Amino acid sequence: MADQFDVIVIGGGPAGYVAAIRCAQLGMKTACIDKWLNSQGKPALGGTCLNVGCIPSKALLESSERYAQVQHQFSDHGVTVSGVELDLATMMARKEKIVQELTQGIEQLFKAHKVTWFQGHGQLQAGKQVRLKEVGKKKARSLNAQHVILAPGSTPVTLEHVPLQGDIVVDSSGALEFREVPKRLGIIGAGVIGLELGSVWRRLGAETVTVLEAQDSFLPIADEQVAKEALRAFTSQGLDIRLDSRVTGCKVVENIVELQYQDGDGDHQVEFDKLIVAVGRRPNTTGLAADEATLLLDEWCFIHANERCETNLPGVYAIGDAVRGPMLAHKGSEEGVMVAELIAGHSAQVNYNTIPSVIYTLPEVAWVGETEQALKATGVAYNSGVFPFAASGRARATGETGGFIKMLADAKTDRILGVHMIGPHCSELISEAVIAMELGASAEDVALTIFAHPTLSESFHEAALAVQGRPIHIAPRRRKV
Ligand code: FAD
Ligand code: NAD
Repeated sequence: MADQFDVIVIGGGPAGYVAAIRCAQLGMKTACIDKWLNSQGKPALGGTCLNVGCIPSKALLESSERYAQVQHQFSDHGVTVSGVELDLATMMARKEKIVQELTQGIEQLFKAHKVTWFQGHGQLQAGKQVRLKEVGKKKARSLNAQHVILAPGSTPVTLEHVPLQGDIVVDSSGALEFREVPKRLGIIGAGVIGLELGSVWRRLGAETVTVLEAQDSFLPIADEQVAKEALRAFTSQGLDIRLDSRVTGCKVVENIVELQYQDGDGDHQVEFDKLIVAVGRRPNTTGLAADEATLLLDEWCFIHANERCETNLPGVYAIGDAVRGPMLAHKGSEEGVMVAELIAGHSAQVNYNTIPSVIYTLPEVAWVGETEQALKATGVAYNSGVFPFAASGRARATGETGGFIKMLADAKTDRILGVHMIGPHCSELISEAVIAMELGASAEDVALTIFAHPTLSESFHEAALAVQGRPIHIAPRRRKV
């Protein structure tokens, strides 16, 4: 029957599309319903990540980094360049082309795997039925499935007293679309988006970038030593990060944003040409399930799901940003693979302790596992080894010597509990730590491994040697807690 599937996935972001492809690979008749319309009003797969998230932001981070390098770093290498100009329209067109190619790539993968793509809104009904309202069609219809995977993703949180306004007060999607570099840029929220997009526009020439953060600590989810180093680095790049700052009002007068905020020193008003609101994301669960379906949501409207991503309804799973855990593309994708395997009757699990986090600024910030402050709070005895990139021959050769790698290992077993990095190419280096932790490696295992010279990876090796109290290229300093 045309409308009967083994699996229906609602949502075609990195959680949903990966789940759909894996289900199809495992021999299940699979459909994926997605309602995303791109800037041309055309249906597009890939969700937030490919359309307005991971991919376009990384394209702009890369382009803006090259622009900054050619202006400020090439001369250190004896390369003199004059007449450097920014062609923002070309930079934006490049970003849009990458997005288009990748989203169309998912479409091709669906075709190759025989996943049926329905373009429209899906709603879970009672008894694993799904109501489908297709784009451009007046009447909705019903689809049936043995299993339903909910992957509706998330949307930016808005602030009631800071309404979005055209291209002046924008969320993260709008901040990827500016057609000129704002002279005075304001950002509410010093989280991952605020830091990445603040870096993009500062590098492209924003004269001031002011980041207002409500909390009194900077990047509290990161290791404290890393967060301290990151704050120092971003401040020296010209990001004016104001902690403990609560926005109290905002209006746009003659295209200028007038923003009021409070901090420990009292009330302040600042003016910006553009303002980005980046204060977190909320799950897309409104209208996802009919009342009769009795899908259980938690108090913040995330879909209730256990570690196997099972909801309260038999045969209905939920994955990605709309369920507990970090809002990261790779977390959602791994949940998608796990659920497909479980439906196929295989054993599968996601190791939630080894999900890496990366902030793609310069320096890059990356970590996996426990932070030092968390180990202290829980009274776990550990050894710590730190290796600064300044002591790495490769970092010296490339001229990127800021930052360090820190490894934390259990004092009794030597098992690696966490790895924290700030510095060049940490988004790539962190995978070495993830693999080590996934395989249950000890610091000694890494210390005994041979790393090519000269590479940045040697710093990971040296951090492990430092845990053992025997780093080669710095004076030893081992701490037991
Ligand atoms: P989404 O990607 O949000 O996809 C959900 C899809 O479901 C959407 O297409 C939505 O339209 C559709 N949908 C929702 N409800 C329905 C319905 N009822 N019927 C039909 N369709 C529906 N993460 C990283 O890991 N690395 C990064 O570098 C990174 N950078 C980011 C940068 C920015 C600016 C932003 C905003 C996010 C970034 N993220 C990054 C986060 C990442 O985008 C999300 O974690 C990821 O997209 C979540 O995947 P998902 O599949 O759960 O949801
Ligand atoms: P976030 O949770 O990382 O940061 C939001 C920040 O805003 C927090 O520091 C919070 O304290 C602050 N805040 C909240 N309300 C505020 C207010 N009223 N005034 C001032 N500050 C306020 O959220 P985000 O930066 O919006 O990103 C959303 C999600 O997208 C994150 O969970 C992240 O995982 C994901 N993301 C990941 C990447 C990456 O992996 N590189 C990049 C971008 C986004």
